[in-house]
Amino acid sequence: MSTAAREPEPRANSIAATIRERGQRVTPQRMAVIEEFLTRRDHPSVEQIYRSVSERFSMMAVSTVYDTLRLLVELGEAVEVSAGGSETRYDPLTGDHCHLICTQCKQVIDLDMPGDAEAKLSPAAVERVGFAAERVIVQAYGLCAQCRSTASTRTS
Ligand SMILES: [Zn+2]
Ligand SMILES: [Zn+2]
Repeated sequence: MSTAAREPEPRANSIAATIRERGQRVTPQRMAVIEEFLTRRDHPSVEQIYRSVSERFSMMAVSTVYDTLRLLVELGEAVEVSAGGSETRYDPLTGDHCHLICTQCKQVIDLDMPGDAEAKLSPAAVERVGFAAERVIVQAYGLCAQCRSTASTRTS
């Protein structure tokens, strides 16, 4: 996990301030979605956020979760992650980092990896072919430690 990640609470408050500045309402439901999302490091889907927040808010709608996450993406406070499944996942860590994606349990693990892999895809490198890259995410697909150990106990 990156030590550069900001504390969830002040970040949630500054996001709420930005939303209000745009003339949009920050409902308690919306705030709960933002706070829940910022504490997660598992790259949750809309459904996952909905499941944990609706425990506290019985009137929570899936569309509220979806709209709030879309808004966070628009504000640059979240990025969409495609982990190979049918669901879009969301990441509160917006800086350059790598994703290790388990093809079995669909877990997405953050990895700080400055250097080689990212350097090859740096904005300067892709600019040589006329492309303007805004951000670079390197994703590795494979099996996580847990899935590897269950696989090996099954075969032995
Ligand atoms: Zn796994
Ligand atoms: Zn991530």
